[in-house]
Amino acid sequence: MIICCFAFAEYSLDMKDMKKIEHIGIAVKDLARSNELFAQLFGKEHYKIEEVESEGVKTSFFKAGPNKIELLEATNSNSPIAKFIERKGEGIHHIAFAVEDIHKEIKRLQDEGFTVLNESPKHGADNKLVAFLHPKTTNGVLVELCQDIAENKEK
Ligand code: ZN
Repeated sequence: MIICCFAFAEYSLDMKDMKKIEHIGIAVKDLARSNELFAQLFGKEHYKIEEVESEGVKTSFFKAGPNKIELLEATNSNSPIAKFIERKGEGIHHIAFAVEDIHKEIKRLQDEGFTVLNESPKHGADNKLVAFLHPKTTNGVLVELCQDIAENKEK
């Protein structure tokens, strides 16, 4: 295993595999309208729109400095986003953390007692492998783990 040498020693001991907040996901009712709203907010347009058919969502991504925001609209009534909006209304849906090795991280979190919703990572938007933790075990916050698929390939 290669240990990153640019991180401060105290962080490299504590941070395990959660590298940073990769993005924050926001559930919206009308993606086209929200794209306009967030373009006004950030002063620039979204840089990508992507539909994840298996999840019943259409997503768009914005960058605000180094941070990313993912807007999610349901594409059918069985979509988790449709159910979320039904229960809670529009708003923050999940926080996604970048991880180095999603399989290792899923195992680590299960051993720590968290409920992982999908043990085998799925293909998510923006070229990522993703897994979710049940909000029951994370103080009501849906946590997404994501690993960049491109990171594993030779560039
Ligand atoms: Zn996400």
